[in-house]
Amino acid sequence: MAATDARDRMLKQAEKDGIEFFLAMFVDMHGKPCAKAVPASAVDTLLTDGAGFAGFAVGDIGQSPADPDLMAVPDPASYTRLPWKPDVAVLHCDPHVDGEPWPYAPRVILRRQLDRMREERGWVLKTGVEAEYILVRRTPDGGIVVADELDNSEKPCYEAKGLSRMWDHLSTVSRYMNELGWANYANDHEDGNGQFEQNFKFADALTTADRAIFLRYMVHVLAHEAGMAATFMPKPFSQYTGNGLHTHLSLWDAESDAPLFETDSDARGLGLSDLAYQFMGGLIEHGRPMAGLICPTVNSYKRIGVGAPNSGATWAPAYNAYGGNNRTVMLRIPEGGRMEHRGVDGSANPYLAFAGLLAAGLDGVDRALDPGEPVTDNLFALRPEEVAARGIERLPVTLADAVDRLTEDKVLRTALGEVRSGDFVDYYADVKRREFQDYHARVSAWEIDRYLTLF
Ligand code: GLU
Ligand code: MG
Repeated sequence: MAATDARDRMLKQAEKDGIEFFLAMFVDMHGKPCAKAVPASAVDTLLTDGAGFAGFAVGDIGQSPADPDLMAVPDPASYTRLPWKPDVAVLHCDPHVDGEPWPYAPRVILRRQLDRMREERGWVLKTGVEAEYILVRRTPDGGIVVADELDNSEKPCYEAKGLSRMWDHLSTVSRYMNELGWANYANDHEDGNGQFEQNFKFADALTTADRAIFLRYMVHVLAHEAGMAATFMPKPFSQYTGNGLHTHLSLWDAESDAPLFETDSDARGLGLSDLAYQFMGGLIEHGRPMAGLICPTVNSYKRIGVGAPNSGATWAPAYNAYGGNNRTVMLRIPEGGRMEHRGVDGSANPYLAFAGLLAAGLDGVDRALDPGEPVTDNLFALRPEEVAARGIERLPVTLADAVDRLTEDKVLRTALGEVRSGDFVDYYADVKRREFQDYHARVSAWEIDRYLTLF
């Protein structure tokens, strides 16, 4: 009944909006959006059967060329009209094969987790993300430069002039977010040259994951139209600050919508309930293996835990710890009722990231874990031995290390579920190990500079 309602509501809205094409969209393991354009005349078949894809051609989503079609079945509640092409609307889809949700599909993995929590505990996960990105231009030699050539100061963060020079792009994204009802509330120049962040209100985790995918898509399209390229990659320039996808997390009661992480009587003074502390205990317990999911690329490890860029601080975590309003730790409490995970980076697949974070947090709840006292130190200023003396662990330093840890984590293994080849986590790890190996096997310019005539 509810499904029919959502479908009817969507169809009415589409008719009112004069939609001519639907983009049936879903992502592969890496968060790459794939789509087919389906004319409105074929929407009934699209909603019933889905749009068909040769799954192997999609990328890493568990299919071989011998497999039946991957059918992308739209979630009508995800209807998103393209603000720049208002007769087209995106429908985020749950890939199915032979009529069953496909367990390799990131959106299916997250949805399953969220449904189970709602059923078993009556809770909803809400998330908000801060998607940082850098506007660049390609150079004739194949390199990249910051798109705005005047954007070269050493402390570019919050610079009014830098913000103003990108006004057309930034104000368009803002206007579009608001047209979509996302409630954009801030747009700023971030800490890296050419880097921006445009914030929108938090929502239930599935909606936020869909929006993160749509936002990246939208920013790419608009940057391209303006003759630039946008990048969300974690560390496109070694000398500038990287791109995070900081994720704010909170649990809510499914019936009453009451916030479950909020309280006035927190002895530690951070406005967090016991449940929130336990959840955070779980995030720390699984913090290092989690890196394999939330920092999922070779490039991710150039963002976290390296020395300071030109601007003075990375703002990205190197250590598995929490603090109050402290931006040098992995988990920051900006105010009561939620926690910000600063580890998640711009290459993270939001569906898989949220699924992993939720599983870790719930394990903390089940085991009533206590994350201890908040860290008040500036961890960027301490020597590694001083951090270790406080009992704080370092986050993994390479993708290979993180993925090894991920495969050893039973909670994350169970949460990500089973696929036909075994556990999803092993499939994921195989892909990621090949990615690391492919990178690692190449001799870099740095090695030649350093070693060529040294010995
Ligand atoms: N760009 C930093 C990162 O990579 C975060 C900066 C901030 O605190 O907004 O996580
Ligand atoms: Mg930021």
